[in-house]
Parts: sequence; structure tokens; C-alpha cells
Amino acid sequence: MKTAYNHWMQTAEDIRASGLWKTERVITTPQSPLIDTDKQPGLINMCANNYLGLADHPEVKAAAKAGIDRWGYGLSSVRFICGTQELHKELEAKLSEFLQTDDTILYSSCYDANGGLFETILSAEDAIISDELNHASIIDGVRLCKTARFRYKNNNMAELEKCLQEAQAQNARIKAIVTDGVFSMDGTIANLPVICDLAERYDAIVIVDDSHGVGVIGAGLRGTAEYHDCINRVDVFTGTLGKALGGSSGGYTSGRKAIIDLLRQKSRTYLFSNTLSPIIASGSLKVLELITHSPELKIRLDENTAYFRNGIKSIGLEIKEGVHPIVPVMCYDERKAALMAEKLLVYGVYAVGFFFPVVPKGQARVRCQVSAAHTRAQLDTAIAAFAKINEEMAE
Ligand SMILES: *Cc1c(COP(=O)(O)O)cnc(C)c1O
Repeated sequence: MKTAYNHWMQTAEDIRASGLWKTERVITTPQSPLIDTDKQPGLINMCANNYLGLADHPEVKAAAKAGIDRWGYGLSSVRFICGTQELHKELEAKLSEFLQTDDTILYSSCYDANGGLFETILSAEDAIISDELNHASIIDGVRLCKTARFRYKNNNMAELEKCLQEAQAQNARIKAIVTDGVFSMDGTIANLPVICDLAERYDAIVIVDDSHGVGVIGAGLRGTAEYHDCINRVDVFTGTLGKALGGSSGGYTSGRKAIIDLLRQKSRTYLFSNTLSPIIASGSLKVLELITHSPELKIRLDENTAYFRNGIKSIGLEIKEGVHPIVPVMCYDERKAALMAEKLLVYGVYAVGFFFPVVPKGQARVRCQVSAAHTRAQLDTAIAAFAKINEEMAE
């Protein structure tokens, strides 16, 4: 055997030994609030990013099918060679209209949107100021550029200001603040009003990755900036089509024209990666139409979120307070969180425990995610399961 394999097998052993080996449950149904797996039928799904229940929506599926008939299966090209259809231009225009931005550029994922952003618009003379809890794709995108980096404690505006002052003292040419709109382990929302104030005071630009915000919060489901009434103060958004917006895959960067123009010319994850499938583009256009014209989606999501949050609190469990459908049920103790997630399955409820290093030590939790598509009965079953397990574990 070649040396390399010994090394890799040992690495895998180490992961197993530390108890961090990930196994994947195999779902045998479409993604929805009630799923079957190959091991267990009838699980109430509390851990998908399917916030609006559009992942298996009949109209979205019909639009995707119509898309494949009208536009084909794929483009076999990057956008700038022969991979741009009217459909892609239409989706970019509709996303810009929805997000109230100048322009939008599509990517294969939000991971790629972040991977192709920083290096394109920032260089060694500049500074990136980043929230410590930002998504891995932001961290990786930032690693690709030679820009000076500053990091502030999660949502800590005093530290952010200090970073801005340091960057200013170092004569950074461009200062860019980057934050997740919603922090996915906690469901907390970035303090955009203060971030935008500071950005204006220190002549910085604001970049928001709103993957858990768009289609989830804001009066018109436009995300964190709408929620905080600062859409026009954010320079650029990145986001995913793979969560609330249909849950298939794909991502985008949307914002000021000067930035999007440059990305189309120079962003490597755009230039050297294939066009988004017309199937997804057609489905996504339907998703935007549904979100814009079906107010009941937001009403149901908000009602379900409030109902579940109150329900969990009423049985004496602690959650991270907030308004987002990400509801972390706090266990603190790692074993308690693991046991709780395991017992939930016995009661037919699927939610996942998160431990160090994904969350800080001593902050273990079971993270639940509410969907507009959950029925009251499903949420009641989930809450009752938490209640029973909480009693069992207290004994
Ligand atoms: C999910 C997520 C991504 C990745 O999105 P993909 O489209 O699945 O690559 C990026 N950023 C944030 C904040 C996310 O939550």
C-alpha cells in the first residue's frame, strides 16, 4: 500500500476515535416536514433549511419540469462562452428586483459566490473585517486573497469599531465589513443598523451573506436588511438558492453595479464553473413569484416559529431567544445534547445535536428549524417529545 493511504486511514481512525465521525441518514422520500429514512419511516423533520416548504412544492416542481422542456437539461458551458440563456438573465433581473439591488450574478452555490467575491474586489492594500462566527465559505473566500484580515467577536460592535480604527491606522485603501445576516447555530440576526452606521463613519463597504435570511425574515421575506430596514445601506449580498428559496442548489451575489460588473469579468468561481442548470433557474423564478405573491407563506412561517418557540419554553426547556425559525434548544452538556437527539428519534422527531467544535465548549444544543409547511399537529408532536425526554432525563 502506498504511504499516503496509511496516513489517510489513520486520520479517519482519529476522527472515529474522537467520536466525531459523521454518518449520513438516507432519506427515501422527497424533502418535507415528514420524511422516511431507510431505517425509520414517518419522521417529523426539524432539521432542514426548508423554511418555506418549497423543496417539494407542486408549483416549483411543475416550473422545473417546464424549464427542462423549454430550455433543456444543461448548458455544457460557462456563462461567458455559450452558457447564458434568456432564462438566466431573467432570474438575475428578478433577484435584483426582489432584493432591491442594482444587479445580480448567479453562481453554482453560495459557497462559490463567497469563494469568488473577496479576491475579485479586494487586494493587498485593503482590509477585511469579519465576524468570528461567519460561515466557512466566507472564511475560505477570504483566505484566497492577500488582504489584511481583522476579526471581531460575534455581533460585538465595539470590537468591530476597533477593527475599523486599526484598519484606518494602517491606511487600508478599501475597508470591507463582512457578516452573516443570520448566524446559523444561534438563529441570531446581525446588528446591521450599527454595522451600516460604522461603515458610513469609517468609509467601509458592507457585505452580508444572507443565506439564512432571504426567504425567512423581513416583512417581504427579503432578509436581514429588510428586517432591519437597511437594504440600501448594504453594498453587496451573497445568498443561496439551496435553503428557503426552493432548496435545490445555486447561489448569487447581488448589489451595487460596480461590484457585479467586476465579478462578471474576474470572479474565478463564475468564470471557470458551469452555468446553473435551467431546471433550477426555472424553479427559482417560480419560487420568487410564490414568495412575492403568497403572503400566507410568511404568515405560516412566523406563526409556526412563534408557536414552536413558545411551546418549547412552556415545557421548561431553554432556547436562544429570538424570532428566527432556527430554534436552538440549549443543553450545554455535550452528552445531554447527544442523548436528547437520540431519544427524539425514538419519538419520531428528527433534530440534530451540535457540539464543540461546531459550537463553543459547554454550549451543546439540539438545533430545531421550523418550516411554514409544518402542521400544528407535527409541531405539537415534536414539543411533546421534547417534554417527555426532558422528564426522562431529569429522573
Ligand atoms: C448554507 C450557507 C452557505 C452555503 O450555501 P450553498 O449554496 O449550499 O453553497 C453559505 N453561507 C451561509 C451563511 C450559509 O448558511
